[in-house]
Amino acid sequence: MECTDRILLCGYTGTVSIQRKEDVSFNVVLHGTVRLLPMLQQICSGMKLYGLLTLVQQETDICRQLFVPGSFTKVDADFLVETLSPVFSEKGTMRQGKNNIEDMPEEETKDENEEVDKAQRNISDTPINVARFCQWLTGQSHVPLSDADREKFKIVMEFDHECHVRYGTHSICYPVVNACSRSVTFPVAHLGTYAEFKNVISQAIVHGYEFGRC
Ligand SMILES: [Zn+2]
Ligand SMILES: [Zn+2]
Repeated sequence: MECTDRILLCGYTGTVSIQRKEDVSFNVVLHGTVRLLPMLQQICSGMKLYGLLTLVQQETDICRQLFVPGSFTKVDADFLVETLSPVFSEKGTMRQGKNNIEDMPEEETKDENEEVDKAQRNISDTPINVARFCQWLTGQSHVPLSDADREKFKIVMEFDHECHVRYGTHSICYPVVNACSRSVTFPVAHLGTYAEFKNVISQAIVHGYEFGRC
């Protein structure tokens, strides 16, 4: 049989055959467990040294994510919307009306885990979803682990109304992201409609962090 050698290495002494399948798998599992236990015990004593063991025992939900791959809580639309903290122009100025862009990321997040549409798919095969949007904005696509960190987690949104003053005639600007300070500046002049917004954001996400203008 194919795996006979490895099965015998696990300490199984009977005949290796399909008929003995249950016996064989029992021995393999037992062998694996026996090998694993001392390792896990060592990890525990190591964690004890740093006082981590009690923490892990108390905060099982939070700590599970540190040990089980793929269990980080992904951001969802609710989390993202909560974290957005827009910096608006003063009320009553001409610019204020233009800040209705604030509603747009919310719409964007409604596409959660869905492909945006065919036009976007042409830009890249990877769909743009909330996790990717958040990765682009903050450098991470999972929510902060502790409650305290989660409350502090804000994405500052600023609005640039002046790119035409600064750069003269040009047709497009992209949002400028600072993942360290978790802030993003939207070029309002180029984001008149949701379609424009979606197009500009998708391109920025697909092609990287920062962009010039053309
Ligand atoms: Zn511009
Ligand atoms: Zn930095």
